[in-house]
Amino acid sequence: MIPEVSCITDEVQIKLDLSQQETIDLTQRDLRCPNCKFLITKVFSDISGHMQIRCPKCKEKYILNLAMFRTRHKGLFVTLIKVIE
Ligand SMILES: [Zn+2]
Repeated sequence: MIPEVSCITDEVQIKLDLSQQETIDLTQRDLRCPNCKFLITKVFSDISGHMQIRCPKCKEKYILNLAMFRTRHKGLFVTLIKVIE
């Protein structure tokens, strides 16, 4: 459901516009659940560091090292740590 009144301030809108402009020369790749391959989100080529994901399909949580998350041939090479609660 889309809110009737936007909560985005002018300052935030400027940041959003700049963020979008900075992606012009970047490439995107899919970030998929390492367990069931469900599409979690799309990331840009300048992303690095670690990211915690929770798959909405299989409900598992993982911590991904995005520096090691690369497409190799037809498969994905993923370093992950399963989050145990
Ligand atoms: Zn999953």
